[in-house]
Amino acid sequence: MRAYLVAAGVQVHLTREDNGRATGLVTPNGDTRNSTRNDLQQRVSAANRIGADIFVSLHSNGSGDPNMRCFEVYYESRRPFADENYRLAKELLDGALRGAANAGYPSPNRGIIDAACWRNFNGRCVGLFVLSPGGAPTSGGGQSGAQSGPPVAAKEATNMPAALLESLFISSPDDAAMLKSDTVRDAIAKGIADGILRYLGVPA
Ligand SMILES: [Zn+2]
Repeated sequence: MRAYLVAAGVQVHLTREDNGRATGLVTPNGDTRNSTRNDLQQRVSAANRIGADIFVSLHSNGSGDPNMRCFEVYYESRRPFADENYRLAKELLDGALRGAANAGYPSPNRGIIDAACWRNFNGRCVGLFVLSPGGAPTSGGGQSGAQSGPPVAAKEATNMPAALLESLFISSPDDAAMLKSDTVRDAIAKGIADGILRYLGVPA
């Protein structure tokens, strides 16, 4: 995806290039909730520091139900630029679907989902960390929505539109087969890059 974007003249910053955390962020007591939160916060803060135009979080989904499959995308409605978040999310999803179809895998999609109430925790809405608004210091908690743990600093939100794409379910045999294929992964990457270029108004 980076290669396709760079070829179109877009400057790309990756928060990581392997399966490790963005930095060595294991807390001394081994509390992975706070280290996850800190890890995610560093990605958001880096995007703000760089002055990025958009923030794109790329995942593959997982479920205990092997029949759950396909793409879904999240935006956050509680930000001042919610409309742009939605437009970015839609371009990511449409691009991924076009890419999969181009590789011979026309796929239904799971839609564009508002992350504002991604999880209900004790009657309170908990969003996806990297998309949600900034806020006062709270107890710890990672993207999983866990809210216990030692207090952590106030959350800094992205200054720019952001969206999170779940690209297929690794827990679905059909989707996993697609993800194992270099050809399919490349087509999806090209499709997502194309969606980003459409969002940015950059000719492909
Ligand atoms: Zn995810």
